[in-house]
Amino acid sequence: MHDVAIIGAGLVGCSTAYALLEHDPGLDVVILEKEYHLGQHQSGRNSGVLQPGYGAGLSERESTVRTEGVERASAFCRQHDIQLQESGATIVATTDQEAERLGKIEESASSAGISVERLDTTGIQEYEPHAAGTAGLFVPNERVVDSQQYLHELAKQCKNIGGILQKGTEVEQIDDTGSAVRLQTSVGTISAQTVLNSAGLHACRLAHEFGLAQDVSVVPFRCQYYELTPSSSELCRSLLYPTPNPSSPSPGVKFVRRPDGTVILGPTVSPALGYESYESTFDSPQIRQIASNAGFWKFLASAGTLRMAKQELSKTYRPTTFLEEARKLIPTLDEEDLVKSFVAVALRLLTRDGEMASSELDVRTTKRTVHVLNPMSAGVTVSLPLGDYLADHILERL
Ligand SMILES: Cc1cc2nc3c(=O)[nH]c(=O)nc-3n(C[C@H](O)[C@H](O)[C@H](O)COP(=O)(O)OP(=O)(O)OC[C@H]3O[C@@H](n4cnc5c(N)ncnc54)[C@H](O)[C@@H]3O)c2cc1C
Repeated sequence: MHDVAIIGAGLVGCSTAYALLEHDPGLDVVILEKEYHLGQHQSGRNSGVLQPGYGAGLSERESTVRTEGVERASAFCRQHDIQLQESGATIVATTDQEAERLGKIEESASSAGISVERLDTTGIQEYEPHAAGTAGLFVPNERVVDSQQYLHELAKQCKNIGGILQKGTEVEQIDDTGSAVRLQTSVGTISAQTVLNSAGLHACRLAHEFGLAQDVSVVPFRCQYYELTPSSSELCRSLLYPTPNPSSPSPGVKFVRRPDGTVILGPTVSPALGYESYESTFDSPQIRQIASNAGFWKFLASAGTLRMAKQELSKTYRPTTFLEEARKLIPTLDEEDLVKSFVAVALRLLTRDGEMASSELDVRTTKRTVHVLNPMSAGVTVSLPLGDYLADHILERL
C-alpha cells in the first residue's frame, strides 16, 4: 500500500508530490497518469506566463500567492536550467476608457506591492516598437516559462527524491470504504492511505462518482492560439496585452513571446463539448455527460455566453476577425504574419443554476481524500505554493 496516491501528473499533481517528497523523502508517493507522455493537457498547453498578483477581481490571497509563485517558479527554473523569458509585460490602452481602467490596474499593483511603470506612447514603443497605444503600463516582473519543460523537470525531481510516476494508468473509480483508499484503474487496483484527485478537467467527474461536489460541474472551453510566422516574430519583443475589460466576455488578444522565441497570440475561447476536444469542438465520449448537466444548457443559453460565442467563434474560425482584434495592438500586422497554432481546453466550474462559479481555488476533502476541482486560474504561476498547500492537506491525513 502506498502512503499517497496522486491522480494526474499535471502541474497540480507533480507540484504536490514534489512538496510532499521535499518535506519527507521517506514517503511512498505514487503519481498515476492516464497518458504515456506528460503535458498532454492544460499543463502542457498554455501561455506559460508567470503573472504576479495584480489586476481587477483578484482576492488578496490569490494576489499574494501569485506573486510568491512567480519568484519560486523563477528560482526553480534558474536552479534547473529551464529557460525563462524575463523582459516584462506591456499593457496598452487605445481609448480614454481603457486608460482609465489602466489607472485601476496600476492602483491594484501598487497596493499589492508590485512595481509598475506608467507609459506614454513613446514609452510604450521603447518596450514594444511596433505597438500602438495612447497610454500603457509596464510590469517588469512578468515572465514566461516553457511549461512543458517546467512540468517535466518537476516530475524528474519527484522521481529523484523517490517518487513513483506510473504512466498509462487511468483511475476509473475511487473507493474509500475499506481500511485504505482503493483506486480502480485501467491496470488493476491500487491502494493508498490517502489520495489526491488532481485529474484536471476530469477531477470533478471523479469527485461526482465518489459522491462529492454535486453542487458544481465542469464546462470545458476550447482555446485556439495563433502564432506569428518566424519572419514576423520581431513584431513583438516580450509580452503585449490589451487593457482587460471585466465587462466584456472576450479575453482580448494577448501576444506572448515564449523562451524559444515563438510569439503566440490569443487564445480565442469558446464553449466545447468535450474535455479533450483539441481537433474539433465535439468529443463524442463526453458529450452525453456534459449534455446531461442542466446547468450547462442554462449557461449556454445565457445572453453573455451567446455574445461570447459569437465573438470568439468568429475569431477562431475567421482569421480576419482575429487579425482585426490583434491589429488594435500592432497595426502593421498582416494576414501573412499569422498562422494557427495549438489548441488547449480550459476548465471553468458551473453551479447547478448555470452560473459561472468563482475562479478561486476549489478543494473538497474527506477523511482520506483531497479533490482539486479548480486550481487557481494561473496554475503555472501558483504551482509551487499550491503544491505546498495541498501537501499540508495530505500530511494531515496520514
Ligand atoms: C489555454 C490556457 C492558458 C493558460 N495560461 C496560463 C498562464 O499563462 N499562466 C498560468 O499561470 N496558468 C495558465 N493556465 C492555467 C494552467 O495551465 C492550469 O491551471 C494548470 O496547468 C492545471 O494543472 P492541472 O494539473 O490541474 O491539470 P492538467 O494539466 O490538465 O493535468 C491533469 C492530468 O490528469 C490526468 N488525468 C485525467 N484524468 C485522469 C484519470 N482518470 N486517471 C489518471 N490521470 C488522469 C491528465 O491526463 C492530465 O495529465 C492556462 C490554462 C489554459 C487552459
